[in-house]
Amino acid sequence: MSRAESLASAVVKRELDALLVTELVNVRYLTGYTGSNGYAIVSPGGRRFLTDFRYASQVEREVPDEWTRVIVERELMSDVPEQLPEGAARLGFDDANLSVRAHATLAEALPGVELVAAGGMVEALRAIKDDLEIKRIRAAAQLADDALQEVVEQGLDGRTEREVAFALEMAMRRRGAEELSFGSIVAAAETGALPHANPRDARIRPNVLVTIDWGARLDGYCSDCTRTFATGEAIGEDARAIYELVQRAQQTALDAVRPGPTGKEIDSVAREIIAAAGHGEHFGHGLGHGVGLAVHEGPRLSQRGGDAALEAGNVVTVEPGVYVPGELGVRIEDLVAVTAEGHDVLSTLPKGLQVVG
Ligand code: ZN
Ligand code: ZN
Repeated sequence: MSRAESLASAVVKRELDALLVTELVNVRYLTGYTGSNGYAIVSPGGRRFLTDFRYASQVEREVPDEWTRVIVERELMSDVPEQLPEGAARLGFDDANLSVRAHATLAEALPGVELVAAGGMVEALRAIKDDLEIKRIRAAAQLADDALQEVVEQGLDGRTEREVAFALEMAMRRRGAEELSFGSIVAAAETGALPHANPRDARIRPNVLVTIDWGARLDGYCSDCTRTFATGEAIGEDARAIYELVQRAQQTALDAVRPGPTGKEIDSVAREIIAAAGHGEHFGHGLGHGVGLAVHEGPRLSQRGGDAALEAGNVVTVEPGVYVPGELGVRIEDLVAVTAEGHDVLSTLPKGLQVVG
């Protein structure tokens, strides 16, 4: 079954006459289209793809024949009413993505049609990857790992966080990355206590911890990984103990990844270990998230929103951290595919504390 066919069955189940897909990542997932202006309309009897003339030849290449391709000469939204199946009474739209203004335009153009908030339908399909998608994510992860290894071999001590982030970007792009999955995090010493720190123009000192969180996008698919390094042996006993704690929590939670448990349950595995060591309040984010065409997607491994049971085909991160404000932070993150038998770790770098110059 094609992705569009799977979505069409979901549309029927939701008792919709059609679903309007406006979010570009979702459009790409369904149609293969990689341009920047495109909508998809999926109904039980038809698939329509709308774009403008700039993409006419690209659409011929990218969007398969199961889609009726429509080149629109005005705002795509203005054309939606004409592209709906005859007599459509219930139109689903992505309430997590459509602007209030676009919704108003649509409502005005479609009197008598009920607009139904139906966000998350494509995301639910995206959460289960096929073999080719997993292969692409694995390739992105390998590229990113190779790039990091190159950068870390040149040493961290004495370089600025920004220099390291820039070198990492170059190393990923040289290896063929289309772009970064997200702006790399390079956070040394007390800055490591900020889970999403921006790299600073500050030199990395000896004998501190440095958290690096980075990812590459390849063939549209993202990778996401974190390692924490030490720039010398003399990081102190507390730092060493926290590192070992995070590593143990990460490995134990990773080992628990398989079809069956919910994201919340896997999150609890790591959370309980960290809390038992007295650092419960220093682990203020969820354990992980799905990764695919977007770097943050479903399913979530978290106390909030982690209610879905993991299924074979999910690709998720496992990334506990301990952040002691004003002092230090440690995070270790792997990317892992859930398989029928358990899991397959896509990240390749070692996790024991590595001391680099
Ligand atoms: Zn990350
Ligand atoms: Zn992550």
